Amino acid sequence: RASRAFHPEDTVVTLANGTQIGGKKLTVMAGPCSVETPEQMTTLAAHMRKTGAAVMRGGAFKPRTSPYSFQGLKETGLEMLCRAARKEKLPVVTEIMSADKLDVFLQQEVDIIQIGARNMQNFELLRAVGKTRKPILLKRGLSATIEEWLMAAEYIMAGGNPNVILCERGIRTYETYTRNTLDLSAVLAVKRQSHLPIIVDPSHATGKRWMVPALAKAAIVAGADGIMVEVHNNPSEALCDGEESITPDMFDELMQSLRQLAPICGRE
Ligand code: PEP
Ligand code: MN
Repeated sequence: RASRAFHPEDTVVTLANGTQIGGKKLTVMAGPCSVETPEQMTTLAAHMRKTGAAVMRGGAFKPRTSPYSFQGLKETGLEMLCRAARKEKLPVVTEIMSADKLDVFLQQEVDIIQIGARNMQNFELLRAVGKTRKPILLKRGLSATIEEWLMAAEYIMAGGNPNVILCERGIRTYETYTRNTLDLSAVLAVKRQSHLPIIVDPSHATGKRWMVPALAKAAIVAGADGIMVEVHNNPSEALCDGEESITPDMFDELMQSLRQLAPICGRE
């Protein structure tokens, strides 16, 4: 179902408010790694809206490497994210870690449910979100081949949910300078193999704030349908991934340069 051989035209995923991913315009998803406080979320949501991001991101259920690191505000965080974004009329994207939280995600009317890199092959979770009709953002696994990634999309689609958006977020290689190695060739490979929309996350791919703007632009030039970037009002104090989070000012600048590359979805 994910293959272009069986579905030649590009798929466009449409959110409840009409925002499209995979159409002629670029979709920018931005926000903090983790939801931290209501004030942070209202400030950032207002900024995202003003600058023209199409979708607000924010993690409430966080897949952390160490069990002693901040694990996210869970249901409370989900509520903070949704409340702040709704006020600015922005759709939200946020990660689910377990199928038993699906009811809460549906009840809060999360617009895009994110499956993180670490859960790309959590087949039970893929099947569970496949039973809904919600747009699903499927991140590439830490060491997943393109074939395995598309097969994970297939699990969701096999359940009857055609609304899958892929996200390249870097893969594990021998290189340690960056957190992961951004595989921009995956954008081209996916576009050839599949009709599904694909976005790129240069934040988790590099772990370095200063690399994010250039690689976001490179992703668009490579043919991505959009980007997902981490933006924090005060990156040095962020509870998670501060080093890769760009500031609101950097985000404004990035949006300006993206507008020179292609039309952007959202407030115009
Ligand atoms: C995230 O986007 O919050 C995240 C944890 O990313 P990934 O699953 O790509 O590591
Ligand atoms: Mn993060």
